[in-house]
Amino acid sequence: AAARAPLSRPDDWATQHRSLRDPGEPDPGFANAVDTNPALRHNQVWADRIRARLPEPELGSHRVHAAAIGTHAEVDDVLDRGRIAGEAWAAVPAERRAEALRRLAGEIERLRTDFVTVAADEVGKLIDQSDVEVSEACDFAAYYAERALDPHPGVVAVPPRLTVVAPPWNFPIAIPLGGVAAALAAGSAVVLKPAPPARRTAALLHEACRRAGLPADLVQFVVVDDGPVGRRLIDDDRVDTVILTGAAETAELFRSWRPDLRLFAETSGKNAIVVTPSADLDQAVADVVSSAFGHAGQKCSASSLAILVGSVARSERFRQQLVDAVSSLHVAWPDDPAAQVGPLTEPPGEKLQRGLGTPEPGQSWLVEPRRIDERLWRPGIRVGVQPGSDCHQTEYFGPVLGLMSARDLDEAIEWQNGTVYGLTAGLHSLDRGEIAHWLDRVEAGNCYVNRSITGAIVRRQPFGGWKRSAVGPGAKAGGPNYVASLVDWVAESPAG
Ligand code: GLU
Repeated sequence: AAARAPLSRPDDWATQHRSLRDPGEPDPGFANAVDTNPALRHNQVWADRIRARLPEPELGSHRVHAAAIGTHAEVDDVLDRGRIAGEAWAAVPAERRAEALRRLAGEIERLRTDFVTVAADEVGKLIDQSDVEVSEACDFAAYYAERALDPHPGVVAVPPRLTVVAPPWNFPIAIPLGGVAAALAAGSAVVLKPAPPARRTAALLHEACRRAGLPADLVQFVVVDDGPVGRRLIDDDRVDTVILTGAAETAELFRSWRPDLRLFAETSGKNAIVVTPSADLDQAVADVVSSAFGHAGQKCSASSLAILVGSVARSERFRQQLVDAVSSLHVAWPDDPAAQVGPLTEPPGEKLQRGLGTPEPGQSWLVEPRRIDERLWRPGIRVGVQPGSDCHQTEYFGPVLGLMSARDLDEAIEWQNGTVYGLTAGLHSLDRGEIAHWLDRVEAGNCYVNRSITGAIVRRQPFGGWKRSAVGPGAKAGGPNYVASLVDWVAESPAG
């Protein structure tokens, strides 16, 4: 039988590893770090700007309703204009669509500081998290520009005429821009319908489109809620396609409004990282913590469960390291450049209150969450989470991690797969046999080995779900087939 060769560590392992400060140690003093580290100095400039709430960036002059919910009449007008703009755009050669997208990437880069400050103010996103999101948005525009050029001999691409892009508030820069750029690359006009809590960040994206010289009605912006006006926007024949990132319930609501809708949706997740006894446990602690509590756990991709296998579940050292790592996280508002866990975008709703509230029977707090402000919480860790419990099944979307103890890898996989969702999944193991076994069985769109399970990368790690985490043909965002999947491919009619 083949021996199970341990994996050697990749060269960049050391740099990926974040050293964890013992909570007993004095704080290293962030001011000193700011002086010596240029990147942090930059963060300090942004932090000052966030604190001063410098004047809003100019949000553009045309058809931006950043403050108000749109009306029926406005939606009607937006759809009419969008159809006309879509017809013209579909006739623009792919090379010119690509040029426009590259200009858009440039304009987003130029607005980087404005994006960081508006997202901090509006949804409470931390500087480092928004900074990478701006880069991801630029990557989406540049990558989909390339995909717009993809030749498909023998077939004609029939683009949607008008696409509604309905992003979430948790990634207010990259996800809306990804949807807009994909639709534009495919040859469609766009109506950008922001998540209401992130409307100003979306308005800034709309402003970037204007600065990139896109035709006025090609990308329109309208704020609607889930009420009758929102329904009007989705449930209208003038709209061909909807690109949604949001709760599974929202996708189902859209479907109920319009069963024939061409819907591309990335929805909820309830994701876990499995840690086996062969894992590098230091690395596992760091990755569990960053996957669970980055952006205060408000990511569909977040790991809200860690499933510890065999001796890991009994390891005092592992537990203590996890407790230390979580207790030493710097929880603060985005105007603190050293913040590692920031605020919730909104005070906890009913689901998250359950997550932060009294543990279920048999469970207890390893680290109890603590309220600093209704939007700012020290993260919590529950132990004793049983399969089938609320903590195993519910996406709390906040700073709560549940620990499960599994007998062996197969039991861990059964629990990891044992939810209706299948978005991200992680394994920490240095055993090739275990990794292959896990990869064969895990049911998730994005599977990660020996790294955090958030932060997919455009082009290199396309992002998309499985099971109840996705709706549509299944092409992943940031992947080679996404733009092509938005288009209808029709066989070229023979000449003559
Ligand atoms: N693309 C993000 C990631 O890989 C997640 C998006 C989401 O949470 O909706 O972390």
